[in-house]
Amino acid sequence: MTRESDMMEEAARVLERLEKAGYAAFFVGGFVRDRVGGREVHDIDLASSAPPEEALALFPGALPTGLKHGTITVRQGGHSFELTTFRKESEYEDYRRPSGVEYVSEVEEDLRRRDFTINAMAMTRQGELIDPFDGAGDLRRGILRAVGDPDLRFREDALRMMRCVRFAANYGLSIDRDTWLALLANARLLRHIAMERVRSELERIVEGPHPAEGLRLLADSRLLRYTKERLGSPFADWTAADLAEPLGRLGSLQPAIRWTVLALALRLSPQETERLWRVLTFPVKEGKRVSSVLALDAYLLREWEGGLASDAEEQACAFRKGALLFGTDAASEWLAAARHWTAGGLRLWQEPELASAERRLIEEGERLLREMPVKRIDELAVGGEDLLAALDQKGGPWLGRTMRRLAEEAACGRLPNERTALIARAVELAARD
Ligand code: ATP
Ligand code: MG
Repeated sequence: MTRESDMMEEAARVLERLEKAGYAAFFVGGFVRDRVGGREVHDIDLASSAPPEEALALFPGALPTGLKHGTITVRQGGHSFELTTFRKESEYEDYRRPSGVEYVSEVEEDLRRRDFTINAMAMTRQGELIDPFDGAGDLRRGILRAVGDPDLRFREDALRMMRCVRFAANYGLSIDRDTWLALLANARLLRHIAMERVRSELERIVEGPHPAEGLRLLADSRLLRYTKERLGSPFADWTAADLAEPLGRLGSLQPAIRWTVLALALRLSPQETERLWRVLTFPVKEGKRVSSVLALDAYLLREWEGGLASDAEEQACAFRKGALLFGTDAASEWLAAARHWTAGGLRLWQEPELASAERRLIEEGERLLREMPVKRIDELAVGGEDLLAALDQKGGPWLGRTMRRLAEEAACGRLPNERTALIARAVELAARD
């Protein structure tokens, strides 16, 4: 049995249990949507008329994971299911949270509070669909439509606008005209939404199956101009025209590198990238990962423009020096990004005199990295202590400079990574310093 059908059977047991106790109980939410749309299912949400306390009592070991909203987590046969009491939401506060939750006994009432018709279907354990807003029809026609009055729905909860872009992009749906117009009219309400929530939606868009489409919708809607903390230019105000190439093919890349390509395409500086990633509440190391690639790019450009363009050996060495400075992971990512530009018949670097250098790097870069004798400064066969002892000198800025110089020469294969050779070279450098 597949994991999916196993999970469904266990969930059906939960529903059956609730029904036997006299409650109405259904599959709801993303599960029904993906089931109806013939997509892979990863989790199952359930809803029932049982008040949370009664539901907790019915399932020993259930956890009150979101009691405020009537949600508990039920464990059954090795799977976990979120079970939410049918509810309606009254009076929204702050354009995000309902101020009151009221439990109701009819599933139709519960479906009415849900955001889009495709998310507002319920299914019995026998597979019968309850679909008062024709979500199945919209799914078949490829349309994303708000439940009820879209203007009201976006004003109740402004996060729904980001969800709208995400569902439209990831499911290849076109946004219903009234829903789209309401989104445009309410875009500025996005400032009420926590940056974590915006980032999480943005991540699912950029890392989803159709990132270019998602970015186009973000550009057209101008949503990103109105985030709670300002993202600033150019991140907040790219236009669909900026997104043609190479971002149009973003979906062909591994998710992690898409962010790097995005930053390179928008010509962000490393500092700007770190600021943006911080504002978007990414983990610090994510910002650093992307900004290192941009810093490497700037470094290479400086070195190349400094007159290396004609000398293949010097170019290779500069690339390895860059990898030493910013990390071989950054160097690999830079290569992957440059390949992405090339695959579209473009070049990462616009300067015509750098065309052959870029091409050569793309061809040889991976090998240059793989065969790099010293990939990090701590892979040198000598440490700072050794140099201090051998040169009989006090520490100072010269030490770091010398270590780096040794690492660069060893990385380029111009100096063997052996103790005696390194120390001899350090003595030579010190005499000149
Ligand atoms: P996925 O799990 O793939 O993100 P999903 O539709 O299951 O998709 P969830 O965030 O898990 O999304 O929410 C479950 C269901 O709860 C949705 O299908 C929708 O019916 C409802 N829902 C979630 N967020 C909102 C919201 N902000 N406004 C209205 N309904 C919502
Ligand atoms: Mg879900």
